[in-house]
Amino acid sequence: MRGSEKTYKIITFGCQMNEHDSENIGGMLEAAGYAEADSPDVADVVVMNTCSVREHADKRFFGMLGQFKKRKEEDPDFIMCVCGCMPQQPRIIREIREHFAWTDIVFGTQTIGDFPELLRKRIETGKKQFSIVDNSQEIPEEQGAKRLYKFKALINITYGCNNFCTYCIVPYTRGREKSRTIEDVVKEARALADDGVVEVMLLGQNVNSFRDPNGGSFADLIREINDIPGIRRIRFMTSHPKDISPELIACYRDCDKLCKQIHLPVQSGSDRILKRMNRHYDRERYLGVVKDLRRVCPDIAISTDIIVGFPGETEEDFRDTLSLVDQVGYDSAFTFIYSKREGTPAAMFPDQVPEDVKHARLIELNEHINAGALRKNQTYVGKTYEVLCEGRSTKNDGAWAGRTDDFKLVNFQGGRDVTGRMVDVEITSAKTFSLDGRLV
Ligand code: SF4
Repeated sequence: MRGSEKTYKIITFGCQMNEHDSENIGGMLEAAGYAEADSPDVADVVVMNTCSVREHADKRFFGMLGQFKKRKEEDPDFIMCVCGCMPQQPRIIREIREHFAWTDIVFGTQTIGDFPELLRKRIETGKKQFSIVDNSQEIPEEQGAKRLYKFKALINITYGCNNFCTYCIVPYTRGREKSRTIEDVVKEARALADDGVVEVMLLGQNVNSFRDPNGGSFADLIREINDIPGIRRIRFMTSHPKDISPELIACYRDCDKLCKQIHLPVQSGSDRILKRMNRHYDRERYLGVVKDLRRVCPDIAISTDIIVGFPGETEEDFRDTLSLVDQVGYDSAFTFIYSKREGTPAAMFPDQVPEDVKHARLIELNEHINAGALRKNQTYVGKTYEVLCEGRSTKNDGAWAGRTDDFKLVNFQGGRDVTGRMVDVEITSAKTFSLDGRLV
């Protein structure tokens, strides 16, 4: 490994799983004596942690990778690394080998633990290093992550996904589902609490199907983390509605640290489309889960993901989605226009929806969701909530920003720096995506 004068920069795309992988990669580089650079333009090592979920992801990825070619030509010691979901696809690896052969290190989502060794070999031998494993049964070892925040942390509890939703590339890029043991996760959470972390976010493509190889469910894991002194908030992401168990719902009643919030992707309100998406639940089952959650936790905030214009979606199917949105009353939603992902079954469906129809539906859907979110946010005005301050607000000059227990973003006035602390904030006004307030 090189000395401490060397620097690195990680460029991260995609979901929180990728964000956390980047924290781990940053931890490995710092353990090897590298310091974080302000910009990739001046770093000795650049790591692009890629995502393949968004539309035109390949084009964007290769466009950005190409920007480093000149740097590589000018400085042969500069080390360019690519990791994440993109190189899990054989056609992407082929393309890198053929047209971006100057890339030094390529590794996949399941070989992150190999990175320090790949870097060492690249430096010592000057040879390119590729390490992609397809569908390994190994669970990547969690390394000391370079966390983005001192007071909150991400913890991976499962890797991969077994669900094969027909629109999604993730099972092909992140492999089959694997769970860590409860003992291992709890040990990590305890160490984080000892290091000053008060909020943990448990991560996985489908956390609800977490199953300790030695026995124990996701609900068991939450109950154990709830008992860790120092941890004050527990969140998790992402849930699959088909796997929400009565035991998990009971945790909202019994575990005081489990935040009153759930992200419950519905994707569509039409049974016909849900079947074509291979989601394994119908509208009735989804609404039943929402009802059960609200029975034990009446104030729970619910967010979701919705795709419009999935192949074969008729006007009637879309109306079903709108009526479900109104019935649930979401706090927020990530809405997407369906776009083909090469290699997924839905990309081959013949009845693709015209682009103008998809766009019109997205606008109408967002109007419904935003109106509902604003109505809900207005009910917070005049009340006081405990907020975990995350630092300066990016929106308002001089304001601080933080999250309530139910994940509302609050921008608040109050002179002193309370970053990392739980503070009481009185809500003074509501917007569609955030609340404004003042420190009490
Ligand atoms: S549950 Fe479906 S959408 Fe989520 S990662 Fe797995 S296949 Fe993709």
